[in-house]
Amino acid sequence: MTAAPSPNCDARGAAVDMLILHYTGMVSGPAALARLRDPAAKVSAHYLVEEDGRVFALVDEGMRAWHAGVSHWRGESGLNARSIGIEVVNPGHEHGYRPFPLLQMVAVVELCLEILGRHAIPARHVLAHSDVAPDRKQDPGEYFDWQGLAGQGVGLWPEEAAAPAGVEAVPGLLTAIGYRADLPLPMLLRAFQRHWRPGLVDGQADEETRGLLRAVAALSAS
Ligand SMILES: [Zn+2]
Repeated sequence: MTAAPSPNCDARGAAVDMLILHYTGMVSGPAALARLRDPAAKVSAHYLVEEDGRVFALVDEGMRAWHAGVSHWRGESGLNARSIGIEVVNPGHEHGYRPFPLLQMVAVVELCLEILGRHAIPARHVLAHSDVAPDRKQDPGEYFDWQGLAGQGVGLWPEEAAAPAGVEAVPGLLTAIGYRADLPLPMLLRAFQRHWRPGLVDGQADEETRGLLRAVAALSAS
């Protein structure tokens, strides 16, 4: 871990109970690191993980980093106050989205496990930026290995889909999982799929998606 302090932080005002993962969405890791430390940019994260697995520590976990922006989950908003933010280097959908290298993902898992060891963060609070800001964000996107993370104890992943919910139940299930209710359904479904059905992100409430919605909602309730 390399110290790379960012001035872009302030006091929290809430206990940490959430972990939010991002991709940097910039052409290179060094460019992203520079921006996250630039006072003029007014953005940051607690950590940045390079493609070769190097980890940079930018903001102390006791401080509020500025990574999620306008954000909502399970009726709460302003999630920077209660979350740890990790930026995973990847050019993102605007600059040539590509798979996350294995070394990088190994480092991400290790970092997440350390964080989970320090804070009481329930599995249902390990989230994508796209989960908490589905109207603005797609990161870390469908290449991010949420299933692999969950296999190592980081976040929720259903063992198998439940029997598909009826189409009429879809909005309620999305809300029960944590998504905002006041956005178009296809937008919310794309966010759900990016996390829990990454093979096809099309915003359609197909049978598999409806089964996974029930399964994730059941896990989220426990
Ligand atoms: Zn983000």
